[in-house]
Amino acid sequence: MNITIEKTTSPKVKPESSVLGFGKYFTDHMFIMDYTEGEGWKNARIVPFDYIPVHPASTVLHYGSEIFEGMKAYRKADGSVQLFRPIENIRRMNRSAERMCLPQIPEDLALEVLTKFIEVEKDWTPSDEGTSLYIRPFMFGNDESLGVHSVKNATFMIITSPVGSYYKEGLNPVKILIESKDVRAVRGGTGEAKCGGNYAASNRAGDRAAKIGYSQVLWLDGVERKYIEEVGAMNVMFKIGGEIVTPSLSGSILPGITRKSIIELLKSEGLTVSERLLSVDELVEALEKGTLEEAWGCGTAAVVSPIGELCYNGKKYVINDNKIGETTQHLYDTLTGIQWGRKEDNMGWTYPIK
Ligand SMILES: *Cc1c(COP(=O)(O)O)cnc(C)c1O
Repeated sequence: MNITIEKTTSPKVKPESSVLGFGKYFTDHMFIMDYTEGEGWKNARIVPFDYIPVHPASTVLHYGSEIFEGMKAYRKADGSVQLFRPIENIRRMNRSAERMCLPQIPEDLALEVLTKFIEVEKDWTPSDEGTSLYIRPFMFGNDESLGVHSVKNATFMIITSPVGSYYKEGLNPVKILIESKDVRAVRGGTGEAKCGGNYAASNRAGDRAAKIGYSQVLWLDGVERKYIEEVGAMNVMFKIGGEIVTPSLSGSILPGITRKSIIELLKSEGLTVSERLLSVDELVEALEKGTLEEAWGCGTAAVVSPIGELCYNGKKYVINDNKIGETTQHLYDTLTGIQWGRKEDNMGWTYPIK
């Protein structure tokens, strides 16, 4: 596809790594392309980062037709920049699009525009320990009409944001509250799709947890409120009596690429991750018997986040003396090693940017 490039005439000053945080600063350009039913994707363009005009009746503002992805570009010690499994994000985006009645983007087209855009913005990839260039592709329904139906027009964009290290003070275990009132998703709903509305609906429980000192909530299944699903914006894994367990992708859990990578990585090392139903009762029993050895969340932002405390129905349980466990540390070191190019990539997961 022909991608037009309009370079900014006023490049921004790049912020120091120490002030980056998450998603606060944006790079000089953004990518946009439009879709119209019958015509397909068109007007692919890289333009200066700016506000975008949106019609007041645009579908996304009324009916929430929106999906997104989250991935990173990493700077290696030799100065080059690489992505991690970008094709997995593209495939997941198309699955989310299918669920939300938004158009598909052919995989080769999506990879082409993503790569081209990152080539233009790659100088924004910071180089300090733990920092990266966060990439946010997103798509929204953009019909200029209030009728309720699958959209005929959509917009796809990519914006990028240099982000700081998730762990400024080292890999500290977090406190997680098991949520027993709100639910995030039900089977047949939108839990499997990376769509904006899932987050809007989760914030209430997240805010309640934050008020009493918990950093995220652990969701239970939406029907019986009995089975473990995932943590906030991360998938979750446990090591119970030597068995590494993660909830199976039941239809209401977001299929994380970090989750998938951990399963494949451990398999390549001769270990298995049991993908199965895990009830909160089994978890509490393991906590009480002391057989819950490790717990961690996993996702692109944190990579691996050790869980040091779980609270359920007012009862608090400390895990592994609130210290990071052996498997958690190993996964963190291996995955970040591959992502930042410190470790050889035997899995074929990295994707260099020219
Ligand atoms: C994005 C996301 C994850 C993690 O997915 P990764 O591909 O590993 O970053 C987990 N849960 C939810 C709800 C998410 O939105």
